[in-house]
Amino acid sequence: MKGRKLLMIPGPIEFEPEVLQAMGIPTNSHVAPDFIEIFGNSLELMREVWKSPTGQPFIVAGSGTLAMDMAAANLIEQGDRVLVISTGYFGQRFRDIMERYGAKTTFLEAPLGEVVSPEGIEKELKSQQYKALTITHVDTSTGVLVDPEPIAKLARKYNTLSILDGVCSVAGEKINQEEWGLDVVLTGSQKAIGVPPGLALLVASPKAMHVWKNRKSPVANYYADWNNWLPIMKAYEERRPSYFGTPAVNLIVALETSLKIIAVEGIEKRVNRHFNLAKAFRAGISSLNLEILPKSDEVAANTLTAAYYPSGIEGAALLSKIAQSEVVLAGGLLPEIKTKYFRIGHMGSVSANDLLAVLGALELALLKSGHQIEPGKSLQAFQQQLLKSDR
Ligand SMILES: *Cc1c(COP(=O)(O)O)cnc(C)c1O
Repeated sequence: MKGRKLLMIPGPIEFEPEVLQAMGIPTNSHVAPDFIEIFGNSLELMREVWKSPTGQPFIVAGSGTLAMDMAAANLIEQGDRVLVISTGYFGQRFRDIMERYGAKTTFLEAPLGEVVSPEGIEKELKSQQYKALTITHVDTSTGVLVDPEPIAKLARKYNTLSILDGVCSVAGEKINQEEWGLDVVLTGSQKAIGVPPGLALLVASPKAMHVWKNRKSPVANYYADWNNWLPIMKAYEERRPSYFGTPAVNLIVALETSLKIIAVEGIEKRVNRHFNLAKAFRAGISSLNLEILPKSDEVAANTLTAAYYPSGIEGAALLSKIAQSEVVLAGGLLPEIKTKYFRIGHMGSVSANDLLAVLGALELALLKSGHQIEPGKSLQAFQQQLLKSDR
């Protein structure tokens, strides 16, 4: 036995071997010419993945939450109104972060497993002037997918900045930052972009940069202040040495490796792979009579699946039975229903093989727990749906 565990949680994920190897090379100086080249390349490749040719990318050591913090710290001033559109736990986090910088927030919360309608959002935007709105593209606590395009359009109509929490979506779900008019799209390295945890990644539109430049008050966060980071990003892109805070050298080498892998696969193909695998996986889960948390296929994420445990099955025990098959899944995150559901991450390097292994381990654990199912049923449903893949 090789002791290989399959890590199928919504981040950190299974990383490509080349990415992990890149992490392990001797640490270079952050001002060495070859590292400057790698940093510069990474910034350029981010624009391609985000589809934001005129956007300003930032790469900073930290987690996805720092990227959220950075957006709020730089764009929000005391008393600004912010509309937070929430589909779960991470919408609540964005509200907390916005309020920390003095925002007056309105919290538009979708019913569990659903999204807020564009009509509801427009009604709110009409009622008062908002400085910004936030969208969680995929809320990792519910597995709900929001379509950011119509919301970004509304934001432009009402002269509101649109900020997309893409931590669980960038490089896994369709994103077209510039064409859709999204002002900030942010992520963390350990999710669909496929790099071990430790990098906050963000691309800001020219409009967002303009709003930041015209602030009346200083940015109330020293580390996240774009005044400190913008000259550094510009320098690396112009292949010049510079310093503010030591960059996470090894992680950035890994990021460039992963972004190149993404570019070689092609972002459209990558998004379609996520779509086809996720759809087949949901078919597998449903065939076992497990209820999926998102209410319809249209609002179900393609980077993870959240499903309720069958009634009468104790969740923690089921997950540890699954772990005995060397498959690691995640429990619930949303406090109200934390013990009632579980989550399977399927993003980044994910393949059909991985998901067949998950379904196999899940079936075995369910059978051992006394849940009546026909062995192999979900594998069959998965394969049948995969054969019908239309993208
Ligand atoms: C994981 C996640 C975050 C937080 O990222 P960290 O890297 O854990 O700080 C924020 N938003 C979403 C949607 C996430 O999935």
